[in-house]
Amino acid sequence: MRCEVVAVGTELLLGQIVDTNSSWMGEQLAAAGIDSHYQTKVGDNLERIVAALRIALSRNEAVIVCGGLGPTQDDITREAIAAVMNVPLERDDAVVERIAAMFSARGRSMVESNLRQADVPVGAVVIPQTRGTAPGLICPVGHKVVYAVPGVPHEMQEMLERAVLPDLQARAGTRSTIVSRVLRTWGLAESTLAEKVAPRLDALDAAGGNPTLAFLASGIEGIKVRITAKAPTRDDALALVEAEEAELRGLLGTIVFGVDDDTMESAVGALVEQFGLTVAVAESMTGGLVASRLVEVPGASQWFKGGVVSYASEVKYDVLGVPEGPVVSEPAAAAMAEGVAKLLGTDVGLSITGVAGPAEQEGQPVGTVFFGVAMDGRTDVVHVRLPGDRPRIRQYAAISLLDMLRRRLLERAPGP
Ligand code: ATP
Ligand code: MG
Repeated sequence: MRCEVVAVGTELLLGQIVDTNSSWMGEQLAAAGIDSHYQTKVGDNLERIVAALRIALSRNEAVIVCGGLGPTQDDITREAIAAVMNVPLERDDAVVERIAAMFSARGRSMVESNLRQADVPVGAVVIPQTRGTAPGLICPVGHKVVYAVPGVPHEMQEMLERAVLPDLQARAGTRSTIVSRVLRTWGLAESTLAEKVAPRLDALDAAGGNPTLAFLASGIEGIKVRITAKAPTRDDALALVEAEEAELRGLLGTIVFGVDDDTMESAVGALVEQFGLTVAVAESMTGGLVASRLVEVPGASQWFKGGVVSYASEVKYDVLGVPEGPVVSEPAAAAMAEGVAKLLGTDVGLSITGVAGPAEQEGQPVGTVFFGVAMDGRTDVVHVRLPGDRPRIRQYAAISLLDMLRRRLLERAPGP
């Protein structure tokens, strides 16, 4: 089964928005074992959308078109599909009712153009909308199929998972279920990580390639290792994934900080909560980035007390009790971590001081950063030189400090 993604929208061609829908769908299709050899982008023009759909249908058994399902004049995906199917559009009463209900639930009045979204090519099956107002469509074209999904990413994603992928797999005759899990890693270069994982890649290859492993670089947020397994039932596939996860954790150890939707801050938060500790942070060059990440974690109020953005040297001296002298230094980082823990009465004090650039400071080159973690009567300071420009250095510093705390907390953890 081959499936092409066609993204509709002039703004995609003009570079006003990035076509993240296509990359997300590409990932999903691959994980579902469906070949996808082409992705197309086309503007909001009837003739060209029709042409793009015809070309896509000529070289694939299935096409997913996203975007252009809205109520406005330039939303013409429905018309284009009807032209390709060679059928008229017909208003679907059930869809009209759902749209009307959605508007009244939100206390908004519906205008006539909203009803355009209830126009369905004759012979198409509606995918009921749960999030937005635009329903999706499953449109048979001969023995092939065109799926239409909305352009708004979360609506598209929900519909793809609920309706499109299962339908595609049913057509492909794959009775197997696919389960995947992502291991989040931080702290190793992709090449080093690949080397560590190489024995597993070889073993899996030799055993027939199920599960499979894939590396996905996520920039400053580390590298993801995705495990994907196929089996007749979900339980069987899950068992394969879990066995492989255990193998990989054995090879990778503590560089794995979480799975799937875990973030560095959620991993840190879980450990802090497990030990019943409280945390405070003193930030210079990151200006609150670390505090901001920590409060992203639901329930952070249980353990995160607050922070001091000690950007000016006087604030480091006067508020945090940093001794007079260079502020981009090991003693300053240690004093900041200890000072903020004392000031806010927490078990753990964190600190960052460094040079984000563009100019050097106190004779220290751009990218110089000192991190401090004060807890359990011991203060560690790490000195690094981070690459990149100012935004990158600041972001990298923030996640580095969180990872340093995570590692200190793991020292406390019982067992591996
Ligand atoms: P709506 O009912 O909101 O009009 P629609 O199906 O007509 O939905 P579009 O109008 O094409 O979809 O896009 C709506 C919004 O969804 C865009 O403004 C954009 O923010 C986002 N979007 C559309 N296509 C993509 C894409 N390929 N990748 C990422 N975002 C997209
Ligand atoms: Mg639209």
